[in-house]
Amino acid sequence: MKIQEVFCKSILNKTGIPVGDYALNPYTGCEHGCIYCYAVFMKRFSGHKEPWGNFVDIKINAADVLHKQLNRLKPGTILLGTVTDPYQPLEEKYEITRSCLKELVNSNFPVSIQTKSSLVLRDMDLIKEIKDIEVGITATIFNEKIRKIFEPKSSTTENRFKALSELSSQNIKTFLFFGPVIPYFSDNKDVIDKIFKEAVHAKVVNILIDSLNPYPKVWGKVKRLIENRFPEISDHYKFFYYDRELYKQELIAKIKGVARDYKIPYKLCF
Ligand code: SF4
Repeated sequence: MKIQEVFCKSILNKTGIPVGDYALNPYTGCEHGCIYCYAVFMKRFSGHKEPWGNFVDIKINAADVLHKQLNRLKPGTILLGTVTDPYQPLEEKYEITRSCLKELVNSNFPVSIQTKSSLVLRDMDLIKEIKDIEVGITATIFNEKIRKIFEPKSSTTENRFKALSELSSQNIKTFLFFGPVIPYFSDNKDVIDKIFKEAVHAKVVNILIDSLNPYPKVWGKVKRLIENRFPEISDHYKFFYYDRELYKQELIAKIKGVARDYKIPYKLCF
């Protein structure tokens, strides 16, 4: 893993995403190394030759730049962690995300954090001080052996739900992101049911659900993984890839079937 400290010129960047106005990514690259990572396109802009997942640039002046931009820009919702995980393991040492939250405490910019790490609990003191904030945690797989293959360096799924519960218990608005739904490992009724059950238990406000999007670079990695490690389920992946519409319809039907048993709002993002 190549890790280097860099200076950034801008840390709040306009997004094209309808749910937020600015993206704030304290790092370029992500140690979590999820097989299906959509942020792989960022490598093109990074200047790195290493494969995505094998480098992280640490934006050591992020808080200073943020301070200046908060004074200059029109207030809008900040999405913290759109192409990196703001609580990847390096954050424990570098505290770049924490330093940015300190700047956001007295701003009037709403904040939405998205992570796969229970390290977010470390910053509970600051999160509680920000007037308008929500924290979303992603969960996709309950089987730890499989989770480690798909999302190697992230927190265990159990710890992610514990983190959601802890945040909710402190009156922080939370949501669960169930995405991407991993074909075979999380697109069955048992896993979907467990997702809803755990979300209710953690008292999240809602669940966002997204199907795996087989962008060419993502699909290449996923396909290789299935061929090498799980050849016995390749037919299910062929169905997922070559019969997209039918796969989606069946997935939606399963989700709707499970959701009927729970009184929690959910939104399909696919
Ligand atoms: S945590 Fe998010 S940004 Fe990091 S590797 Fe996984 S999918 Fe990509």
